[in-house]
Amino acid sequence: MNKYLNDLLIKYEKKYAHETEFLQSLRKMLASIEECILPKHEKLNIVERLIEADKVITFRVSYLNDKNEVCVHNAYRIQHNALLGPYKGGMRFTPSVNLSIIKFLAFEQTFKNALTGLPLGGGKGGSDFDPRGKSDGEIIRFCQALMTTLYQHISQFLDVPAGDIGVSDKEVGYMYGMYKKLTGEPGGVFTGKNPVSGGSLGRKEATGYGLCFFVEKMLNTYRNDTFIGKKIIVSGSGNVGIHAAEKAVRLGAKVIAVNDISGCIVNENGLDIEALKQLKNDRNRQIKDYLKVDSKSTFYADPKQIWTVKCDLAFPCATQNELNLYDAKLLVKNGCFLVAEGANMPVESEALEYFKLHDVLFAPGKAANAGGVAASGLEMTQNSMRLFYTFEEVETKLKAIMENIFTEIYETAKKFKAPFDLQKGANICAFIKLAEAMENQGII
Ligand code: NDP
Repeated sequence: MNKYLNDLLIKYEKKYAHETEFLQSLRKMLASIEECILPKHEKLNIVERLIEADKVITFRVSYLNDKNEVCVHNAYRIQHNALLGPYKGGMRFTPSVNLSIIKFLAFEQTFKNALTGLPLGGGKGGSDFDPRGKSDGEIIRFCQALMTTLYQHISQFLDVPAGDIGVSDKEVGYMYGMYKKLTGEPGGVFTGKNPVSGGSLGRKEATGYGLCFFVEKMLNTYRNDTFIGKKIIVSGSGNVGIHAAEKAVRLGAKVIAVNDISGCIVNENGLDIEALKQLKNDRNRQIKDYLKVDSKSTFYADPKQIWTVKCDLAFPCATQNELNLYDAKLLVKNGCFLVAEGANMPVESEALEYFKLHDVLFAPGKAANAGGVAASGLEMTQNSMRLFYTFEEVETKLKAIMENIFTEIYETAKKFKAPFDLQKGANICAFIKLAEAMENQGII
């Protein structure tokens, strides 16, 4: 790393010493952009202006649970960067949410959104509220309470949130409804809405499907190959995981293992993804119940068991840092040759280095899972134009966007003499777009 980047890293390691996820993401970014840093970037201090968020909003949310107890949660919205358009990124509701996690997600989102080629800035938000096990009444009250503060900071032209872990079209609907009640403005301030409330067809499927379109292009480019006959493991059986599994099967692969927080289910002959989808439609149901529809499958009470399953392709689609060096060694030993991040930063840094050393093809999340935000961009377009695309129209546009992202970052990786390093290609490609916009817009 050159002196400019190294000095910045040292400065931020001191400044945000306790924000481990944010620093992890920052280190990866700085390590991969060195070769594209020009003297003018240093002079204009472009990198530091990309590291620091435009605005960080933290607030308290209080609501009454079903036992009439007053519950208190922390909530965040980080408006990271608006160089390319309105702040855009999901809201995450899960107990592990903290400032470091939302900061890393917002930082990554800015680069991801730049790769889509759509006019979208980057943001992220969330709360340590856990919707699992809560009644509908509790979820409505929490979402409405959160919105009594958040509504002041968002609008269809300023900051457009969506879903993420723990936030499906249900929670989006409750927040969107309250936003309209408070502001009287019925614009498309959220994406990921249910189509009955103006959401886009195909948004729910977009991240998982987009991941498969990206991987299909990778298989084709690097190996002149397809999904047909491949054995795949998918961690996480939420929005991203289930739809990635569904598309992979439609493209001819066998999904042989899937997990959730409670455990892992394996069937060497392929799982019934439709049955799994029905089951996990209810977020309070556990994957173990799948045994009732497929008694030939095996359940393990440890979700990490998934990384021991022999496979060709692995799709980590659950959460950050779910795949460590130990898991990476198991995957490589068992012949896995491609890992694609459906989740944001699911692969720990040491695991990623191990994959690189062992020639495992790697699809970085900020490119491979950009299908969700791309379809959100399409939802914003439809809302503004007061029309709906068909499912097929959305899917066709999504496929074109994902293939274009692959091509752009692959060409960039080749240009920087690292044709197999798509992480480097993605980071450099996004950095160049953002740096050009920053230069163009002056010192702001
Ligand atoms: P969901 O809440 O819909 O699903 C998350 C899934 O992961 C659930 O099945 C959950 O289990 C499981 N899970 C969580 N932690 C673990 C763990 N430690 N081990 C095993 N399984 C675990 O979230 P999404 O699918 O929306 O998001 C998943 C990831 O994808 C996140 O990193 C998110 O940021 C990223 N992403 C999401 C996008 C989207 O459009 N939704 C867009 C781009 C990225 P359980 O069912 O038991 O709760």
